[in-house]
Amino acid sequence: MIKLSQRAQQMKPSATLGMAAKAKKLKAEGVDVISFAVGEPDFDTPLHIREAGKKGIDEGLTRYTPSNGIPELRIAVREKLKRENNLSYSDEEIVVTCGAKQAIYNALQVIVDPGDEVIVPAPYWVSYPDQVLLAAGRPVILATSEADSFRVKPDKLAGAITPRTRAVILNYPSNPTGSSYSAEEIRQLGEVIADRKIAVISDEVYEKLLYTGERHTSIAEACPRCKEYTIVVNGVSKSYAMTGWRMGYAAGPRDVISKIAEITGQQNTGIPGFVQKACVEAIRGPQDEVERMRQEFKARRDLMLEALASIRGMRCHVPDGAFYLLPGVEAWIGKSWNGNRIPDADTLAEYLLEEAHVATVGGDPFGAPGFLRLSYATSRQKIEEGVARLSKALSRLA
Ligand code: PLP
Repeated sequence: MIKLSQRAQQMKPSATLGMAAKAKKLKAEGVDVISFAVGEPDFDTPLHIREAGKKGIDEGLTRYTPSNGIPELRIAVREKLKRENNLSYSDEEIVVTCGAKQAIYNALQVIVDPGDEVIVPAPYWVSYPDQVLLAAGRPVILATSEADSFRVKPDKLAGAITPRTRAVILNYPSNPTGSSYSAEEIRQLGEVIADRKIAVISDEVYEKLLYTGERHTSIAEACPRCKEYTIVVNGVSKSYAMTGWRMGYAAGPRDVISKIAEITGQQNTGIPGFVQKACVEAIRGPQDEVERMRQEFKARRDLMLEALASIRGMRCHVPDGAFYLLPGVEAWIGKSWNGNRIPDADTLAEYLLEEAHVATVGGDPFGAPGFLRLSYATSRQKIEEGVARLSKALSRLA
């Protein structure tokens, strides 16, 4: 038998993928499952982007690429950061990665030494703590409260920083809470980070899915003093319905960025050239599809919030962006069905899949016990039908 490393043993299987697999299995058995568990837009990649990718294949962009990305794409990203985020970077301060996920993973590999602390505000995206552990760091979970709309308060952040703190990961709009920050709120967090000279990984993958009417403001823009401590992470997955294309990027201090590229070079060399061509088109081309998808997500958010509000005992804060709701479901925890007690939200999610044939994810793996994460990246009709099923199944618990 091959002995597994300690690093491998401490990894937990992804809860979101686990739930998606269970839902898929039921579907394959012929059950009509409605999924609120997915973390990706249900739209197709816009046609002009797909065409650019096909053209890239025909043009022979099928060989190895530079591990920091093709120059044309890094230029497109540089221009985007200037145009949309008012951030100036040189081409050497930008690296293309295999999804935003790899940008975050490699950034942690570059800045974390064994035992270093990385502050992860909760609720968090499931990958952050595991990625910190894989960098031999220590995730320090910083709880936020629903009363604060799950936003990190500057004094709480300052209080969590110790001499071992290397970085904090901020995600806005957030998966799973949908919360974001005003320019002033994020500026205040930037001041704490710059004062204490820690790094911030600023995960902005949902920047284009914001429904507040405000403009998304990056921490590096809101607090210019914080820019030298910031690694901005973004990508095309969520904004352009391109999850499967696997392109993300990081922008930040040149030494950090070049090390991220060196690590990428040892992992997957670089991402396909034709994918990068499609991403140039996504970033530089017409943006009207992005706006259409944003408006549709906003309508779905409102529809799902309204439907959930009719379930007695269900409490749900209004998210600013992304495509998730995080309703509190404490009212049903401790209840039973067929004599089986439901001790936590994960078990409630299992019950809902079995009884209502609706896939949701329990909040525990997001650092949100007592909550369910519901994705509204599905049709309005499925949202209405799915919430009606949830309502019925919940009312059967005693
Ligand atoms: N960051 C957050 C908060 C996410 O929710 C996700 C995907 O679910 C990612 C990063 C990863 O995105 P990508 O597809 O670009 O790797």
